[in-house]
Amino acid sequence: MSGNDYDAIIIGAGVIGGAVGFELARRGHRTLNIDKGPGAGYGSTSASSAVIRFSYSTETGVAAAWDGMHYWKNWADYLGVDDENGHARLIQCGMALLIPGEEGHHNRVTPIWDRLGVPYEYWDRDTLATRAPGFDLHLYGPPARPTDDAFWDDAHGEMVGALFSPDAGYVDDPQLAAHNLQRAAEASGGDFRFRTEVVGIVREETDAGVRVGGVELADGSIVSAPVVVNVGGPHSSHINRLAGVYDSMNIKTESIRHETYHVPGPPDIDFTADGFAVADDDSGIYFRPQPNNNILVGTTDPACDPKVPVGPDDDLGELTTDGWETNTLRINKRMPSLGVPLPHEKKGVVDRYDKSDDWIPIYDRTDLDGFYVAIGTSGNQFKNAGVAGHMMAELIEAVEAGHDHDADPLHVTARYTGLDLDLGTFRRNRQINTNSSMTVHG
Ligand SMILES: Cc1cc2nc3c(=O)[nH]c(=O)nc-3n(C[C@H](O)[C@H](O)[C@H](O)COP(=O)(O)OP(=O)(O)OC[C@H]3O[C@@H](n4cnc5c(N)ncnc54)[C@H](O)[C@@H]3O)c2cc1C
Repeated sequence: MSGNDYDAIIIGAGVIGGAVGFELARRGHRTLNIDKGPGAGYGSTSASSAVIRFSYSTETGVAAAWDGMHYWKNWADYLGVDDENGHARLIQCGMALLIPGEEGHHNRVTPIWDRLGVPYEYWDRDTLATRAPGFDLHLYGPPARPTDDAFWDDAHGEMVGALFSPDAGYVDDPQLAAHNLQRAAEASGGDFRFRTEVVGIVREETDAGVRVGGVELADGSIVSAPVVVNVGGPHSSHINRLAGVYDSMNIKTESIRHETYHVPGPPDIDFTADGFAVADDDSGIYFRPQPNNNILVGTTDPACDPKVPVGPDDDLGELTTDGWETNTLRINKRMPSLGVPLPHEKKGVVDRYDKSDDWIPIYDRTDLDGFYVAIGTSGNQFKNAGVAGHMMAELIEAVEAGHDHDADPLHVTARYTGLDLDLGTFRRNRQINTNSSMTVHG
């Protein structure tokens, strides 16, 4: 469509912004995604580890992640269009959640998996040793840093086993996934504008009170729409301030710096072909296979690691030697045959998480009528892009039709699994969810 009037403007064209645009466009809404980057998925999406797993601490968190996997599994059908660059692919290498002791995250997860029918295998220690040859299954945790004496302490026990999710894995090209969503939205009539910055949110007086009226762009022009969705990733709190809704939200978001690392795989195993993803709370890392027998290592952000707030447009600098050494030493403890990579071999990516107070996203309306948010994705919502798009489209249609989501949180039926998604879980005004693990396994 041309012109400057739309049914909905989506600020951001990352994987979640693209999915919100696609879901609204396929329902017949005239949508515009606006992104200040040069193309789809150039924000934090481009740095994503893109791990697909189901080990969340809330029932809706698990339901969303389990349903989300089905979008990736049926990606070409879901999109319904070709992309000249090809389609992103789901690699289902499986993921093992290591169990360091009888108490732990696995106890929260298994009852939910049982209730929702999420498949998994319980591996006892011997099975884990067989399935993960070359792993040192001793316990060294809780996670520490090599600068702490505790890091060098002798092992104090043995891993109990692992929960293995055979359907888990990763998406091979997260930026391409965002581009795929752009092409799908365009095929349904959606528009995209790149290198275009939103600098203001238009508020309009109506008979029913103040509501959003569109956005102001950096060139001073206005694009009008009765619905605006903030999917600005690490810029989310800045955009909320532009809209005047930041202070009215109980859960806040902030941009924090985050690094992931690429290390050569073990010499004796083809980790790309035969490896699987691992969540290792004992060490404070998660890791997964990458092409050419490489391994991607991310931190679970354990309590001992610094959280580094950084402005959404600040220069991120290079990978730090401290982060590289800490996390390569951590994975080397678990897989001693790796050998400790040398500092000059530093490889990986630096980007930002849009972290919420409890590491759970906010998918919600706001106190400004017509202004919605899909934010606070906290380094763990790539996997849910399709579900997030579906939930936001359902929410926007229901609220615009008069549903009082604040008083009566909307429930949405998941597209592939038919599971119930209680959108109350993602409300802006929830109390901080103390059941959240406050860590990330990708
Ligand atoms: C290092 C790292 C590892 C991760 N690993 C995983 C993982 O393993 N599994 C998982 O599920 N999730 C993971 N995530 C999280 C996941 O990648 C994000 O949740 C997801 O990509 C967020 O997508 P988005 O569309 O919301 O935001 P983004 O991709 O950040 O897109 C936001 C867009 O908004 C645009 N924008 C912002 N402000 C404006 C403005 N004023 N005007 C115009 N445009 C604007 C930006 O240019 C940007 O393109 C990881 C994230 C990071 C950073």
